[in-house]
Amino acid sequence: MTRSFSTRAVHDGEGRDESTGAHNTPIYQTATFSFDRAEEFAAAIELAIDPNQMNPLDNHFYSRTSNPTNAALEEKLASLESAEGSLVVSSGMSAVAIAIMISAKCGDHVIVTNDLFVISKQFFEKDCPAMGIEVSMFDVRDINQAREAIKPNTKAIFIETVTNPNIFIADIAAYKAISEEHSLTLIVDNTFLSPYLCRPIEHGADIVLHSATKYISGHGDTIAGVLSGTRETIDRARTKMDSLGQCLGPLAAWLIMRGVRTLSLRMRQHSENGQALAEYLLAHPKVEWVKYPGLTNHTQHELAKTLLPDGFGGILSFRIKGGTKEMNLFANSHKLFAKGVSLGDVCTLVYPQKWRDNLIRISVGCEDIKDIIEEFDNALSNA
Ligand code: PLP
Repeated sequence: MTRSFSTRAVHDGEGRDESTGAHNTPIYQTATFSFDRAEEFAAAIELAIDPNQMNPLDNHFYSRTSNPTNAALEEKLASLESAEGSLVVSSGMSAVAIAIMISAKCGDHVIVTNDLFVISKQFFEKDCPAMGIEVSMFDVRDINQAREAIKPNTKAIFIETVTNPNIFIADIAAYKAISEEHSLTLIVDNTFLSPYLCRPIEHGADIVLHSATKYISGHGDTIAGVLSGTRETIDRARTKMDSLGQCLGPLAAWLIMRGVRTLSLRMRQHSENGQALAEYLLAHPKVEWVKYPGLTNHTQHELAKTLLPDGFGGILSFRIKGGTKEMNLFANSHKLFAKGVSLGDVCTLVYPQKWRDNLIRISVGCEDIKDIIEEFDNALSNA
């Protein structure tokens, strides 16, 4: 019997440490692993380098390749993603780069949504062409644009489930249909939602990735990434991570594991607060517009309701009437909430973006909604 998501978030991948009896998963802070006998040593290395064999999760010999703390987190995340396997890496950007580098090579072409995390955009616009990988961009809301961008050498489609920063929604099942039609790898960056709100593999994605720095960790104290997919895909991703040296340290893996245990609780609170703040802002006379998938005026609200039955998450964008002066007056009036990049933290974060026509992105935290609204009320009265 499959246990519920919340139970798996707490327990999967973890258990009593057989060597010490430790109840909590230990941090295996070691670079290398030693062997009693030369024969065992040779067998471990041979297993790891044999391309015809899956490297088992407990075959550790060097922490660039694998580590027991990371393996526990990988098992937990694979369970939550409904995936055969997961791989944790040094950052969300490592996950983006690895996903593309195992799906396309020099001479191939990939198609990518044009509303995208800014550094992912930089990777697709600068680094992919430098590797000989051609890139075309399309509007994620228009499946026909994606279809028209496909060429004979196209190998992959890359989408964000909820886009950064314009809060567009990707119809994953529709993208699955065209990726299947053209034998493409469907890669989904699901950072804005976490596996609690959406599991793209259940909708047909081949690779799902996250900046684990965000909701998966939830506490803003680590940079990390994760990729999930079939065991075969994750083995290829691990080999690429090994070559590029993008491994995650075991302490970071442990901090993320501690965060994941409360993912369900946090995502429920982020979604509840996100909805309440979006509705409050929409009704405020100083606010020009608000973008949040849970608002009925969001142009893709019907799709969002189908894709996200458990909540719409904690990210919203809005604009204050007026210009940069009003935006800055608002942002500078916050007493409790920090101005900063990143998202998915238990603390609310305010990100004013002058270069995007004064769009303000809010990562709504897990504070009491009464205090969040009071803080916004004060800041808006100063704007
Ligand atoms: N993908 C999305 C949607 C992001 O928002 C980010 C970072 O903000 C990344 C990927 C990159 O993640 P990291 O900062 O962990 O490298």
